[in-house]
Amino acid sequence: MEQSSEHPIAVGIIKKVKETKISIPKLENFNAITGKGVEAKVEGKQIKVVSPGYLRDKKITIPEDAYSDAAETVVFVLIDGKLAGYIALADEIRPESAEAIKVFKKNNIKVLMATGDNEKTAKAVSDKLGLDGYYAEVLPHQKVKIVKELQEKGEFVAMTGDGVNDAPALAQANVGIAVGSGTDVAAETADIILVNSNPQDIANLILFGKATYNKMIQNLIWATGYNVVAIPLAAGVLYSSGFVLGPALGAVFMSLSTIIVAINAQLLKRKLGKK
Ligand code: AMP
Repeated sequence: MEQSSEHPIAVGIIKKVKETKISIPKLENFNAITGKGVEAKVEGKQIKVVSPGYLRDKKITIPEDAYSDAAETVVFVLIDGKLAGYIALADEIRPESAEAIKVFKKNNIKVLMATGDNEKTAKAVSDKLGLDGYYAEVLPHQKVKIVKELQEKGEFVAMTGDGVNDAPALAQANVGIAVGSGTDVAAETADIILVNSNPQDIANLILFGKATYNKMIQNLIWATGYNVVAIPLAAGVLYSSGFVLGPALGAVFMSLSTIIVAINAQLLKRKLGKK
């Protein structure tokens, strides 16, 4: 069933299946249960692979030994509505994520995680990365709600996601950032696509944006500063003291201001090169 799904859980399961060379039976009527799992008919039986949330909804008791490690994601296999077993997957935190989060914190940017995963996994990942908070067992439509709520609190929200389910939240966010390796729908909705799927690029683009903005302000001050001083002088405000800025000198100042602004803009490259 997981062969028909794009979910990272499905990708992980299929990777393992390929390693173990299990033969895969045919399936019929595949259906993705949004935010909860997948289902299909296999060899005449109704099979579901679902989240712990789905079991709770159906009042099926979650086996106590299912969670041996808080950082694991566990999905449950139901055969004809009965719990048949579970599959535990460990989430590998990419080292680039930790680096990116360090940069966000240094720049006073709050980092929150919204995940369909269970509370335990979400907390373990959040603690490990030192996040400012997390939302666990989030259903797709709730992601948009989370973004909206943060915006109502006056926050400027940049949202990163890769799934079909993330698209509405990416559209709602002030800046939507899609992971390049994710689904086309996410990429089409987002404002920015991370072509290398590297979370560190989010940090880089924020720093780049800030540095560009600062240069813009600096250059505005340089360009305006010249005019504020030189125009009154050219107009003769100091005529009574015997000084008038002549047109020739005025032209030199005019060119100088352009040169300084251009050189200052060039320095941006050097600044970013150091990062
Ligand atoms: P999502 O919001 O898409 O991450 O899905 C939320 C939860 O639903 C996951 O954490 C899983 O427990 C379950 N789920 C979603 N898709 C699948 C799948 N293809 N196979 C197994 N479980 C899934």
